Amino acid sequence: MDFSLSPAVRDFRDTIRRIVADTVTPADIDRMHTTGTFDLPALNRALAEHGFLERATPGLGKGDPVELWVMFNELEKAGAPIDGLAVALMIAGVVQAVGTEEQKERILPSILAGEALVCMGYSEADYGSDVASITTKAVRDGDEWVIDGAKMWTTMAHEARWLILLTRTDPDLPKHKGLTMFILPMDTPGITVEPVHTMATERTNATWYDDVRVGDEAVLGEVNGGWRTMTVALSFERGVMGGTNTGVPLLRHFRHWAAEVGIDTDPRVREEMARVAIDNQVAALLTQRSAWIAASGGQAGLEGSMTKVFATEAYQRAAEAFQRMAGPAGLLQFHQPGAAADGFVEYDARHAPVTTIYGGTTEINRNNIAERHLKLPRARR
Ligand SMILES: Cc1cc2nc3c(=O)[nH]c(=O)nc-3n(C[C@H](O)[C@H](O)[C@H](O)COP(=O)(O)OP(=O)(O)OC[C@H]3O[C@@H](n4cnc5c(N)ncnc54)[C@H](O)[C@@H]3O)c2cc1C
Repeated sequence: MDFSLSPAVRDFRDTIRRIVADTVTPADIDRMHTTGTFDLPALNRALAEHGFLERATPGLGKGDPVELWVMFNELEKAGAPIDGLAVALMIAGVVQAVGTEEQKERILPSILAGEALVCMGYSEADYGSDVASITTKAVRDGDEWVIDGAKMWTTMAHEARWLILLTRTDPDLPKHKGLTMFILPMDTPGITVEPVHTMATERTNATWYDDVRVGDEAVLGEVNGGWRTMTVALSFERGVMGGTNTGVPLLRHFRHWAAEVGIDTDPRVREEMARVAIDNQVAALLTQRSAWIAASGGQAGLEGSMTKVFATEAYQRAAEAFQRMAGPAGLLQFHQPGAAADGFVEYDARHAPVTTIYGGTTEINRNNIAERHLKLPRARR
């Protein structure tokens, strides 16, 4: 198998590297860590100006399918603030896959221009893994749907122009079947957003929906077909668009610091760095496969789960090992004198555990792999 990139894809990668070098400044990275908002509008717009956002959206990209992986791999390796962009492009892929022509015309241009973000309202305070049990309801009232309820962990709700919202539309149907997904503007009356700051630095949100009224143009997919719409979204989220190469900047930061303080000659440190480098390579190959499937029009539900479990657990192992090796310096944060790798060791140790939770926990993804790949019995109904 020849994994080398074609000359055209290498050009594409080089252009992305140039855009990152021109637009992502140390001050932007600092702002991301201070505010917890992992988004950089100037970067999104610069990528859009080159047509790269459209090229990286599943179902829209006309280039080599490996480009989806190349783009997110480069952005992640640079440690750029891309969570907002990743979710926006995932949902652009969902609109392209299950949306109406009218929705595609109305919603996609703002996302593909790098102007609009999207947030995802699936989880509720009591229903994360068991998201099929959500209680936020949408009730028919004449030509309108009236939405009432509350969501938890609505990341980017404070920045997003669009929201996709999972609701219960038929309480009498089995729980997976009575759900409908909506896509609506965040400035629709009745929506409230409150910040939730996490140990991982990332700011997320709690959101409330009080007599929110939308028409049929907001239904994304089929009425009572919300589970399928969410399955498409998860197949783009897990192991496809970012979140699986976070070990690369961590290793780079640690390696530079280890050389500075002179521990890079210690065989135990070298062995750990080699192990992390191998894990990073495996994560990159697994991501390449999931991203390729998504970019070629498929759904990487199973492969994405495999990628996410491996990559996020490897990242967590690496962060823990480097923090242990750094000793007290690994507990110091950004801007504290003597902090290991300028604070990145401490940051990654806090950030890594959360990556095994969002987008579906490791246990839920393991269940998915067990059931779909190993054909083991279902763990839950
Ligand atoms: C920083 C952050 C950002 C997020 N962003 C978003 C977002 O933008 N939109 C959104 O909708 N959600 C978002 N989430 C929510 C995320 O998807 C949920 O946190 C996740 O699905 C877990 O749900 P929970 O927190 O309710 O935990 P629970 O479901 O209560 O799980 C608790 C523990 O029990 C385990 N468990 C639960 N069920 C099973 C089972 N059947 N088998 C084995 N183990 C099980 C879990 O693995 C976990 O270890 C975000 C979460 C975080 C932390």
